[in-house]
Order: sequence, then structure tokens, then C-alpha cells
Amino acid sequence: MDKTHISVWNKCLKIIKDNVSGQNFKTWFEPIKAVRLENQILTIEVPSQFFYEWLEEHYLTLLKKVMRNQLGNEGRLEYSILMENALSSAQQYKVKVPGRTNGELKNAPMNMPVNINSGIRNPFVIPGLKKVNVDSQLNAGYSFDTFVEGECNRLARSAGYAVAGKPGGTSFNPLLIYGSVGMGKTHLAHAIGIEIKSRNPEKTVLYVSSEKFTHQFTDAVRNNTHNDFVHFYQMIDALIIDDIQFFAGKEKTQDVFFHIFNHLHQTGRQLVLTSDKAPVDLQGMEQRLLSRFKWGLSADLQMPDLETRIAILMKKMYVDGIDLPREIVEYIAYSITANVRELEGALISILAQASLNRKAITLELAKSMIDKFVKNTTHEVSIDYIQKVVCDYFSLPIDLLKSKTRKRQVVQARQIAMFFAKSMTKSSLSLIGANCGGKDHATVLHACRTVNNLMDTDKKFKANVVELQKKITHTSK
Ligand code: ADP
Ligand code: MG
Repeated sequence: MDKTHISVWNKCLKIIKDNVSGQNFKTWFEPIKAVRLENQILTIEVPSQFFYEWLEEHYLTLLKKVMRNQLGNEGRLEYSILMENALSSAQQYKVKVPGRTNGELKNAPMNMPVNINSGIRNPFVIPGLKKVNVDSQLNAGYSFDTFVEGECNRLARSAGYAVAGKPGGTSFNPLLIYGSVGMGKTHLAHAIGIEIKSRNPEKTVLYVSSEKFTHQFTDAVRNNTHNDFVHFYQMIDALIIDDIQFFAGKEKTQDVFFHIFNHLHQTGRQLVLTSDKAPVDLQGMEQRLLSRFKWGLSADLQMPDLETRIAILMKKMYVDGIDLPREIVEYIAYSITANVRELEGALISILAQASLNRKAITLELAKSMIDKFVKNTTHEVSIDYIQKVVCDYFSLPIDLLKSKTRKRQVVQARQIAMFFAKSMTKSSLSLIGANCGGKDHATVLHACRTVNNLMDTDKKFKANVVELQKKITHTSK
């Protein structure tokens, strides 16, 4: 009856599942990985410092209970934190949580005090400005309901949700969401604003793009209303500024933003910022601003994986009342891998094309539309797509190809997929390996050599590969 970290943690999860809501379980416990069990110490890996603090704040009693239940009074829990911080993305560090038989928190060295909202109001009476008059500028369509959760956005989304539940009252202040174009930053920023407003209708929430902020400021300077401008922004309870990379090089705007930022932060209001770059990569930004961004949490948004892309399309179709066959949705999701905006764009152009020409939407139509779409954006074939075509060809489930199994037939299909991924995409060997059963770059190189050798020696094999190549390039051209 050997206990392993996996078996112990699975048993813990079973109990936890019965004690927390489904959503909370998904958000806070599914992402946890048990990594080892030594001397009655179970080490679990959590995605971030934030995640760790959240567990400590909300689930300490429950975790203690399940640990004692599984490992007895000697049982301890240790966290390993996978830092999401832009400064050191690959770094890992460990937090030792001494056994807490008396339930005391103070022994946990990493348990930072949370910045509790003091609820201080702006002490100035601002003539002519009534809080109720501020239009939040929020787009109701960009809510949490329509924002699909995935591995790609888990931290940012849950941090956003936490902030919305306790604006100014978490340690994620400011919350900086970053990611490249079309990844959902604006959507998530609105979602946070909408959620704050719906839970706290009395709070003044404002969404503004950096561009608009900059224009308003220049106008204010020109019209001698600089003070009104500053006062207006200083009375906001939750200020959301989109695309702050736009402030780069604009010293005066950064300066006024710095003062507004300080005032809001000091009085316990919430700041949510988005940027197309990680804070470290933001050039032309004053150091004192950058250092303030680090006070809170920076969380990134990445390109959704295939399943999430499918879920996003399905959600969009549901919201818009559209019904499309699953194979078409899958085809779009396989083919468009650049960003979410393009993904939606492809769906919309297929619908538009079909309704303009009064044609039924078939896979053929979808393919020809996507071809154009993909060509226009000089797109390369994706690893996902190659895997899909290879798996269809060999009638294998894609999961198997992505698994670690060493079954002969799967190994060969996997090698072929690696071979095509190497020759048809710009992906690195290690990325290809990671996508094909978690292999390393050497395995991918070996696969490419094997396929080349086999093509030289085995005619039938070569014919298969050539046929597959045609399939891949034909449908993705
Ligand atoms: P960004 O501001 O990062 O450039 P947007 O927020 O404008 O990106 O997102 C582009 C489009 O993709 C929007 O229509 C948005 O609703 C959609 N989108 C992005 N991520 C998601 C997601 N996780 N779930 C649903 N829709 C998403
Ligand atoms: Mg945006």
C-alpha cells in the first residue's frame, strides 16, 4: 500500500471536491500538480504567487484537514511556485510551509499581508462633478460570461475575477494584463469593469484607452483645465486603462498618469492596465511607473490551445445564434492559430460569404474561405493542423499522438507529424516535441532522420508521406 504523491493528492482532491463549488474546484485545484512526497511532506506546484496566497487565504483550513486526513499529524504541505512574473518566467522557487498543527498563519514566510481596501474616499469636494454621472464606457458584450477560460488565460482571468470581487482590496493592484494583439486583453479588461459595476453599482468604474486618456490630457492642458482632468480621474474607484504601451515616449502624459496612479493606489482604489508587452519590455516608459506596475500582479494572455479555440468559436456562435456543423468549427480552429481576433474574423467571413451568395455553409466553402484568409495573412500550417491530417490519415485519435505511448503505429505517425512540423512550420524543435507527446528536441531530430531514411528505403512509406504532404499543403494553401 505504497503512498505516492499522486495517490495522496488524488485522495485529497476527492475530499476537496466535496467541499468546494465546481467552479472553485476548477479554478483553484485542477491547476495544482503534486510533485513529490518525501518524509510526509507533500509538495504541490501552483502556477503563481497569487495562486498560493489565494489558497492560503481561502482554503487553509480545508487543506490542513485533508493533509491530516491523508498523512496524519506529521503531514505537511509544501508549495512550489511556478512564477508567472515577467521578470523571471522560467524561474522556480519554493515556499516552505511548516506544519501548522495550531493553524497559525504567521509561520508562512511568503504569506504577504494583503492590501486591504481602507475605503477612504476622495476628501476633495469637486464642484460640478457628480460621481453618478460618470459613464463607465464598458462594452456589455465583453463580460466574463463570454470570455472562455483556458490554460492560456487562467491566471489573468482568475486574478481579474478576484479583483472584481474585491476592487482595491487584493494584492493585485495594479493588475497588469499583457499579451500580443488579439489575445483578449480588451475583452478581459471590460469583463473586470462590468463585474465590479454589477457587484458594486455605487462604485465609479471607468474604462479608457490610453489614446483617449492622452487626448483628453492634451486638450485639458490646452484649455487650462488640467486640474479638472486630474480631479476627475482621482475620484474613480476602479480605473481601467487599455494599451498603456501607447504612453511610451509621452513624458507629460506619463507624469500626470503617475500622479493619478499614486493617488488612486494610496486611497485603495483599483487599477487595471493592459499592455501589448510585458512590463520589462516596455520601452520609453519612466522607471518610476514601471516600478509601480510591479507592486501588483502582471499576468499574460497567450494564444488559446485548440480546445479553447473551439470553445471560443462555439461560445461566439451561441451568443450570435449561429449553428454550424462541428467539422467546420474544428476546421477553423485548426487552421487559424495567429490570434483570437483572426479566429473570429474567419468565422464571420464564412458566414458573410454564405449569406451573400445564399449558399449553404459546407466544409468546402469554409476551406476556400479560410484559404483566402490564411493566404492574406501569410499564414503557415500549424502543428495542430499537421497532427490532425496525419491522424485522420492513419485513423488514430489525436490524443494518442499527443500522448507518450510507444505503440509502434503511433510512434510512426508521431514521427511523420514531427517531420512535417519541422519542414513546414517555423516552430522550434523543442516546441514540436512538446506538442507531440512531450518529447525533447533530440527526439524530434531523430524522428526527422528516421522518416528521411525510411523514405529512401521503403517505397510504400515514401508514397504515404508524399500523399500526406499533398493533403496538408492542399487544404492549407
Ligand atoms: P486584444 O485587446 O488583446 O487585442 P481583444 O480583447 O480585442 O484583444 O480580443 C479580440 C477578440 O477576441 C474579441 O472579439 C474578443 O471577444 C475575442 N476573445 C479573445 N479572447 C477570448 C476568450 N478567451 N473568450 C472569448 N472571446 C475571446
Ligand atoms: Mg485591445
